[in-house]
Amino acid sequence: MSTLVIKDLHVSIEGKEILKGVNLTINTNEVHAIMGPNGTGKSTLASAIMGHPKYEVTQGTIEIDGQNVLEMEVDERAKAGLFLAMQYPSEISGVTNADFIRSAINARRGEGNEISIMKFIRELDKTMEFLEMDPEMAQRYLNEGFSGGEKKRNEILQMMMIKPTFAILDEIDSGLDIDALKVVSKGVNEMRGENFGCLVITHYQRLLNYITPDYVHVMMQGKVVKSGGPELAKKLEAEGYEWIKQELGIED
Ligand code: ADP
Ligand code: MG
Ligand code: MG
Repeated sequence: MSTLVIKDLHVSIEGKEILKGVNLTINTNEVHAIMGPNGTGKSTLASAIMGHPKYEVTQGTIEIDGQNVLEMEVDERAKAGLFLAMQYPSEISGVTNADFIRSAINARRGEGNEISIMKFIRELDKTMEFLEMDPEMAQRYLNEGFSGGEKKRNEILQMMMIKPTFAILDEIDSGLDIDALKVVSKGVNEMRGENFGCLVITHYQRLLNYITPDYVHVMMQGKVVKSGGPELAKKLEAEGYEWIKQELGIED
């Protein structure tokens, strides 16, 4: 079992404090969902975990099995088993999707332990079929001209191929129609198990009908203010966030 522990995390962007003491522990074999109104710092949390240079950690710790993640460069974090599927995946011209994925797998496996081309191609074909993706997408430049839905599906393809220990999915559901949502969810559910933990960030409860989380956390104003089980997401869907603000005495 592996554990990702975030303690009292404070993060600033350009001198402005966005995260104000986030605490969160995720074990493998668990799916956690973070919900919350727009602008409360959910994407900031994802970016800080992955080590985006714009996000300055001013206080607190992030550890995987006792290893200090904050001391790691971005590539070292990936090697340590972290994966981020972004709200807005970027395009990389000149790098095919297949090459990108193979490099990422090999970076994680380390020198001398690279995946064989044949094994890679077999797994890629199988996984793309599972995700109902056009095989031609493997040879296209990364995210270039991909539709919103194709980008999201492709992020899940990357995740399934790279097999991270912890994946963070930031609004993987945004802009997806119901069929794409089902496919993306199928990919996440396929990964669930003792070697995989997941943090699903979403604005909407809908995704959680397909990926049933073990834990649901509500983020507001840069903090996790409430945690519970899947029923908490249902209550938020039905009643919104107002009741939590009142319960906790949070002012807008
Ligand atoms: P969420 O994902 O919950 O919608 P974000 O983490 O994207 O929230 O944003 C939290 C706050 O940080 C917002 O007030 C937003 O304007 C600000 N913010 C996010 N990213 C940046 C950035 N790159 N530069 C400046 N401000 C940012
Ligand atoms: Mg947002
Ligand atoms: Mg966001």
